[in-house]
Amino acid sequence: MLQSSYNYSLVAVSLLIASLASYTALDFAGRISSIGKDPSRIYWLLGGTCAMGLGIWSMHFVGMLAFSLPIVLGYDLAITAYSLLIALLSSYFALSVMARDAASWPRLICSGTALGVGIASMHYTGMAAMRMSPSIEYTPSVFLLSLAIAVSASIAALRISSTLRSRPYKLMWLPRMAAAVVMGLAITGMHYTGMEAANFPIGSICGAASGIDAHWLAVTVIVATMSILVIALVLSVVDARMEAHTGAFNRSLRIANERLQYQATHDALTGLPNRMLLSERIQHAIAAAERTNNRFAVYFIDLDGFKAINDTLGHTVGDALLKELADRLKATVRKEDIVARLGGDEFVIMVENIPDISMAAHIAEKLFNCFKAEFNLMGAGAGSGGMGISPSIGISLYPDNGATMEVLLRHADAAMYEVKASGRNNYLFFESSMNVASMRTIEIQRSMRTAIKDRQFFIHYQPKFDCNGLVSGAEALLRWQHPRLGLISPAEFITIAERSGQIIEIGYWVIEEVCKQLNEWAASGQETVKVAVNLSQIQLRAPNLVEEVLALTTRFGIAPSMMMFEITESVAMQNAEETMKTVAKLQGAGFDLAIDDFGTGYSSLSYLQQFAVRQLKVDRTFVNRLSESDPKALSVVAAIINLAHSLNMEVVAEGVETQSQHAILKGMQCDQVQGYLMAKPLSNEEFSKLMRRQGRCAFDFGGSKISAGEPVTASAH
Ligand code: C2E
Ligand code: CA
Ligand code: CA
Repeated sequence: MLQSSYNYSLVAVSLLIASLASYTALDFAGRISSIGKDPSRIYWLLGGTCAMGLGIWSMHFVGMLAFSLPIVLGYDLAITAYSLLIALLSSYFALSVMARDAASWPRLICSGTALGVGIASMHYTGMAAMRMSPSIEYTPSVFLLSLAIAVSASIAALRISSTLRSRPYKLMWLPRMAAAVVMGLAITGMHYTGMEAANFPIGSICGAASGIDAHWLAVTVIVATMSILVIALVLSVVDARMEAHTGAFNRSLRIANERLQYQATHDALTGLPNRMLLSERIQHAIAAAERTNNRFAVYFIDLDGFKAINDTLGHTVGDALLKELADRLKATVRKEDIVARLGGDEFVIMVENIPDISMAAHIAEKLFNCFKAEFNLMGAGAGSGGMGISPSIGISLYPDNGATMEVLLRHADAAMYEVKASGRNNYLFFESSMNVASMRTIEIQRSMRTAIKDRQFFIHYQPKFDCNGLVSGAEALLRWQHPRLGLISPAEFITIAERSGQIIEIGYWVIEEVCKQLNEWAASGQETVKVAVNLSQIQLRAPNLVEEVLALTTRFGIAPSMMMFEITESVAMQNAEETMKTVAKLQGAGFDLAIDDFGTGYSSLSYLQQFAVRQLKVDRTFVNRLSESDPKALSVVAAIINLAHSLNMEVVAEGVETQSQHAILKGMQCDQVQGYLMAKPLSNEEFSKLMRRQGRCAFDFGGSKISAGEPVTASAH
């Protein structure tokens, strides 16, 4: 046999090439699998095939070049090219297997065997390219060993690549490098074992010896292969970087999207779901309850007097209260239940899987208890100590009280209004009787929010007349032209506005309008009279009432003596000490006051004395009953008039509708009268007309009356 020898530096280079090719293969396999079904996949696959195939082939070739015999060696170009083709095909096969999802062991073994056989056939084809004669004699056992090494190395390579793929691509270069070296060792191991199997009989001649010059071939192949592998790797790394950037961009885009989505579905102040998310969740709950034949409950919570807190203590305090309440409510229900804020002080809670009404009541009780402890709002500047607030809770059940989200919410809302109407601080289940009345109330309350802005409010002026029939004053009466419900009486909407606290804002609007009107009348040179504005108890309790009123009168250049305020007897007496302070402040600022609806409450004489108000207005229920046949009514009114006079107050009788009532009042020395008999509440133009006419003619007690809508005609007397 011919004695063979090796050039060890070329052996080392062959190992390097094998490892580099393995690394490229693993890298590309990872890339290809991370790309998924993207169209660029085929380019990565083909590029990877070229790099890997060339790598394996040139490893083999360099390995061959490292080998020398004492005879001249060469390689047949066609057979060498054929061996390259085999290397490429095997690589293509290997890469497509490696890029697929984690394979089962049987599949790994099958494809690994195919790949190993591919590599081995490339090797032995490459050997055949020497065209030795006589043929190379292979030692069968070593030949089989080389085949086994090729197959097991391939199986190992596929296995390694499939484990590497389950990790994040970015973090893999070190384990991939180690795996590549192992694979490189296995491939070269196969090669040199294969070489070991080859025996060249003495006298062998290389049939391809006149082929290519081996030295230059080695350099060319090494340089070309190394550059191809390096370029492929650089491309892969650059692309991975770019992909990482795109990935980072996509991630921040996703985060931004999620944030937007969150903002669209959550309340900014409390972080609770808003109406949008709530309705989505209720829809889901309906679908789920329908499937499972279950119940769920909707709790509508509105805080009692929250608007007053906001108006008097400021928004910071109001916000702090809402936030703390949101936390308490969330802590009260289960994680899967939903606590939403609809805006303002309205919260809705939905609890699923309610077996029966007693369970729903139990939860209502728990929600109710959230309000037992005071709210600690020190941080929000609410002064020392906590603040208490009570809820009105309305409850509706699915499917008992409605089959759709709208109906369930509307009915819970209606039940909540029923709680408000029956004294607040309670919870009630919806009942069908609540429907109609509360629906109107709800609509009134809702649309009141925009009534000022939409200019739906206006003011009528009802004149007060003295005993000579001259206009001695006027009462400003608020009117609301509702777009759907028509003209709504203040008797209806003022109580609703008081409950919701909106009366404060509306009340200031009334005062502002009256100031504007007085200013306008004065500017047009028209004689003016004192205008009385009604104040409700909520307005009276606003701590900065007097300052706000003075700011308005100053702004319009109105002397406080041009205005007075009416407060009802029951309001005045309810909280007499407190009211007296405010009344004194108003009086100190120069405003007169009247006690309205006198006779309906229970006045304490001593308080009445201390109030020292300008007017007492006898309630119209007494005036109505005034006739010679009702001596009791006569004596009550006479007593009121005497009392007022003894306290130096003027008496105004309201609701005077008939001549006889008027005559009786006149006989009792009543100072002023107000009622439909003389004039209905008038628009500002009608009131101006009346005032202009007054110079010529006073009200004629024996004849015509003046009413809204009717032209004011002078009477003949
Ligand atoms: P009030 O202060 O007792 O006002 C007198 C009410 O009696 C007015 O009803 C007036 O239109 C009505 N009236 C006048 N003359 C007669 C008559 O001869 N016969 C009858 N049957 N009624 C007569 P209105 O305008 O519906 O106001 C109802 C209540 O609403 C007022 O009662 C007052 O308490 C409240 N209100 C009206 N405007 C305002 C306002 O600007 N602010 C506040 N806080 N309350 C207001
Ligand atoms: Ca009044
Ligand atoms: Ca009255």
